[in-house]
Amino acid sequence: MDLLIRNAKIVGQGGLKNIAIEAGRITKIGKITKRARKTIDAGGMLVSSAFIDPHIHLDKVLIAEDLRPNVSGTLMEAIELIWERKRRYTVADVKRRAGEVISMAALNGTTRMRTHVDVDTIGGLMPLKGLLATRKEFKELMDLQIVAFPQEGIVRDPGTDELMRKAMELGADLVGGMPHHERSHEEAKHHIDVAFNIAREFDANIDMHVDETDDPNSRSLEYLAEKTIAEGYQGRVTAGHTCALAAYPDDYAREVIRKVKLAEINMITNPVTNLVIQGRGDRQPIRRGITRVKELLAAGVNVTFGQDCVDDAFYPFGRADMLEVALITAHAAQLTTPAEIEILFKMMTTNAARTLGVLDDYGIAVGKRADMIILDAESPKDAIRRQVNRQYVIKDGRVIAESTSLRKLSKN
Ligand SMILES: [Zn+2]
Repeated sequence: MDLLIRNAKIVGQGGLKNIAIEAGRITKIGKITKRARKTIDAGGMLVSSAFIDPHIHLDKVLIAEDLRPNVSGTLMEAIELIWERKRRYTVADVKRRAGEVISMAALNGTTRMRTHVDVDTIGGLMPLKGLLATRKEFKELMDLQIVAFPQEGIVRDPGTDELMRKAMELGADLVGGMPHHERSHEEAKHHIDVAFNIAREFDANIDMHVDETDDPNSRSLEYLAEKTIAEGYQGRVTAGHTCALAAYPDDYAREVIRKVKLAEINMITNPVTNLVIQGRGDRQPIRRGITRVKELLAAGVNVTFGQDCVDDAFYPFGRADMLEVALITAHAAQLTTPAEIEILFKMMTTNAARTLGVLDDYGIAVGKRADMIILDAESPKDAIRRQVNRQYVIKDGRVIAESTSLRKLSKN
């Protein structure tokens, strides 16, 4: 046995258990008498499956200091501010910044991420090349899925569709999209059609930025759901942000959610960014700018949340810490009852595993890949409330990070 964790309080299970790990897998849970190469006594601390961040932009992280400030605070100004910096990306530059955030995320208990990467005629394939190099160098810390993301649009940035095909050939895993960034609803629909064509050519799944605006006239999500069903792509499509869903009239929103459920679209909300980017034109009340999280959950849709941005033109903070993102999401979406907090915790674990398509090999059960965190907490709520220390982070059965926290009051 390679690793034995004693006295673990496993999330969702009663009592204290022992967990045996061999060759990267969980081989036994319960009474264990065999000796292991390494033993950790969890001492009753909470043991959770490792966190998953299903939506981040690792090519853009940690560039805020190189840009002039985003004065309007809007999405459009943020996109334009990055243009000049994007032209100066190099593989080493992307790898240095993305690697720093991956290291932070690993220390914070995340072992899987899905990152978008800009594919457009400004940066070409340089951001992707940087992230492919990053994925290789940091593979012991992080499993990385890469989405080829047409940040500048497909119709309004001619040549992007061919770049996206090249990105898929080079090693991107999923086809991205940004339909609401096109000039009209017709062009947004065409954008979605092109993305599906590319996805079909590479038998790839799709993960799009959809309706990231508080404009109720931005209605790409409904078409995405219809197209998903028409193409037989149910369960293979993810929609991120979908802020406009919150701005729709209730009856139209209900109809769109029904179609999203039928299309088995995975939904990702990103309150960290959207709380500060959306609603900028509002006086009072200022809208929250996040999608209808509770209504989607109530409809049985798979919902998760992501960090999205770390210190870029969109958002100046961020620590690649899913406990922090969970806390912000709880506030933004008003997930505060015991049952809602339980769902909140699932959103960054099992729900996110479903979104990434790794649920079959995820969780604390015999036979599953050994990715877990020992949290200095009594319960999921306690972990989120106190933003507790991640004592040990384990990936593929190996301890990849350890943290200790010493805090004490001085007595006079
Ligand atoms: Zn995003």
